[in-house]
Amino acid sequence: MRPIRLLALSSAAASLLLAACATTGEPAAPATPAAPAFQAQLLEDVRILSSDEMAGRDTGSAGGEMARNYIVGRLEALGVAAPAMGRLQTWEATGRTRQGPRTFNGVNILGVVRGTRVPDRYIVVTAHYDHVGTNEGQIYNGADDNASGVATMLALAAEVKRLAPEHSVIFVALDGEERGLLGAKHFVEVPPVPLASITMNLNFDMTARAETDGKLWVTGTYQNPTFRPILEALPADGAVSLAFGKDTPQDTGADNWVEASDHGAFFRAEVPFLYLGVNYHPDYHRPSDDFERITPAVFTSATSLSIASFRALDQALDR
Ligand SMILES: [Zn+2]
Repeated sequence: MRPIRLLALSSAAASLLLAACATTGEPAAPATPAAPAFQAQLLEDVRILSSDEMAGRDTGSAGGEMARNYIVGRLEALGVAAPAMGRLQTWEATGRTRQGPRTFNGVNILGVVRGTRVPDRYIVVTAHYDHVGTNEGQIYNGADDNASGVATMLALAAEVKRLAPEHSVIFVALDGEERGLLGAKHFVEVPPVPLASITMNLNFDMTARAETDGKLWVTGTYQNPTFRPILEALPADGAVSLAFGKDTPQDTGADNWVEASDHGAFFRAEVPFLYLGVNYHPDYHRPSDDFERITPAVFTSATSLSIASFRALDQALDR
């Protein structure tokens, strides 16, 4: 499947086209809503992070370092400051691999944007930038998992630089998720601010491929029920709407996502959390999780919903 390419038409060209349609008697197509301003950068971020050059971004690898340098550059270009503890948080931990346990040296990337209403309360927005690297000569590019979530987080960072948030926001591009949530576990052990000052963790992992069921899933409202009415009010964006679940005692095995990604470390540390991500698809954890399989309009809608979710929570919490 190839992504649909949107034709960029000048208004003059569009008028000519409409005129041409009118003269041939064809009904004019319904107007397509203008793409959000963040769309081009969003796609560019995913394309670069999931390129073969980054070799699947395994923790401790040269490709992982290249991805890290790119993300640091993007945060600095956006004017997202480093917290007092520094831009990079390094750690060493034992993680899982196909061949058994191994020691990994990872690096989390941090940025902070000060809030206006409750600056001493924090929303920690996370997205892991590592993926599983290469195996048997094949690169696992991890475009959806999780170049997409990092790109969504960067789009949100740009948005809160444009219009300040009410809470202070700590952005964390986490390392070592695929090896056992290693970077997230380290973050909650050595947080840049006291855990008690963190209102919630909002975790993005796989935000692109919503076309499977048209849903961006919100996991964690079973554990944090006060968050649900805040998000239930949000309307669908294009072909994507929010859905709630994958978090109850009835959701078992691979259908329970409470500890399926980095928010699990926050859950264990008793920090309220929500996870936003799409359902499983055939390219999940396969070498075919490539940029070309992302549908730009769907990914853009899921990112718009992610940003709207952040704004709704930011405005509703700590009243
Ligand atoms: Zn992931």
